[in-house]
Amino acid sequence: MALDKETLDQFIDAVRRFVEERLIPLEEQISVEDHIPDDVVDDMRDLGLFGLTIPEAYGGLGLTTEEECRVVMEIGRTSPAFRSVFGTNNGIGSQGIVLDGTEEQKRHYLPRLATGEVIGSFALTEPDAGSDSAAVQTKAVKDGDDYLLSGTKRFITNAASSQLFTVFARTDPDQSGARGVSAFLVDADSPGITLSNAYRKMGQQGAHVCDVIFEDCRVPQANIIGGPGQLNKGFRTAMKALDRGRIHISALSVGCAKRLIELSVAYAMERRQFGKPIAEFQLLQGMLADSQAECYAAESMVLDAARRRDAGEQVSMPASCCKLFATEMVGRVADRAVQIHGGAGYIEDYAVARFYRDVRLLRIYEGTSQIQQVIIARSLIRNAS
Ligand SMILES: Cc1cc2nc3c(=O)[nH]c(=O)nc-3n(C[C@H](O)[C@H](O)[C@H](O)COP(=O)(O)OP(=O)(O)OC[C@H]3O[C@@H](n4cnc5c(N)ncnc54)[C@H](O)[C@@H]3O)c2cc1C
Repeated sequence: MALDKETLDQFIDAVRRFVEERLIPLEEQISVEDHIPDDVVDDMRDLGLFGLTIPEAYGGLGLTTEEECRVVMEIGRTSPAFRSVFGTNNGIGSQGIVLDGTEEQKRHYLPRLATGEVIGSFALTEPDAGSDSAAVQTKAVKDGDDYLLSGTKRFITNAASSQLFTVFARTDPDQSGARGVSAFLVDADSPGITLSNAYRKMGQQGAHVCDVIFEDCRVPQANIIGGPGQLNKGFRTAMKALDRGRIHISALSVGCAKRLIELSVAYAMERRQFGKPIAEFQLLQGMLADSQAECYAAESMVLDAARRRDAGEQVSMPASCCKLFATEMVGRVADRAVQIHGGAGYIEDYAVARFYRDVRLLRIYEGTSQIQQVIIARSLIRNAS
């Protein structure tokens, strides 16, 4: 444990109260306004939420993966757009540096990512490189001690509020696929970067994505994650960051499912039909029980994968199992929650309608469910041969 048990419990209590008292009452407003107020972001900073996974030596809380998951399960009890504000700083936007950065890169970037002074985004996806993420075409051409980056990165979370992009670009045009890709730390105010307008999304209003376009953007070779010696090894960094990211998204799915189950139970106990609360009908109980059993299974998987990662095991396969099961699980739980609410479940005044749309994304980003299946099956076949 990075924190002693009492300190961790106190921190989790503080996060629970913050979610309950500060965030849940704002959910509807954020959904309508598509904006999270600055004072809420300041409160997130004060609580330390931007630096959950950043080592203490660099100003973060240095939580283990298991501790992080327990915190994220609490955060999941409110609209996932709130998590998105600090999600990239804890996950894909900082972990490349934590895992593979040079000491100088860590000292330069991590303390400001930990406080939320700097927002970090992860720029891997491109118009023609989505699930096939190793097919990146953004090119980095050597020019003296620098590289010139050109290409388009698609659907980048928090890009408009970011000061730092981790950009994956092809440094060796003669190599296709994962080899020949390097990870660059690019300051967002560098000349040669433009942003598209924000995309209008199905859910998670308040969280923003847009494209990031690089045109001969000059980046010193010292900004390759791990230094120039890590040339052409960036894709490995991306995959390692995604292992932890996938466990994190799975924990988020568990948190959302818990909230949806609470809302479903409360509604079923209050709503009366045929002279009694609908909670007394066994067909309703079946839906509640399936949701609870699946949520519990996902929670157990997430904690197991997190502990394995903390013990130093290679967790790509367990992380994919968690991402596949937990994100599909919360999709089913959200669907049942709408069904349990009947017509009211389709009405915006009820949180379940919003959650139904919000959780749909979890099955798509950081690798779709099909990509998790591919990773799991490949791993099984590799281990058997
Ligand atoms: C709101 C949002 C935020 C995002 N944030 C980020 C971010 O911060 N950084 C970033 O880099 N990316 C981000 N993404 C991109 C996201 O990771 C990709 O959209 C996702 O990986 C899928 O890629 P794609 O959209 O190109 O779909 P495609 O790859 O075109 O997939 C389309 C369909 O084909 C299936 N498919 C593809 N290949 C296979 C296969 N081999 N076997 C079986 N089925 C397959 C997929 O599962 C899917 O069902 C974000 C996306 C969204 C919508």
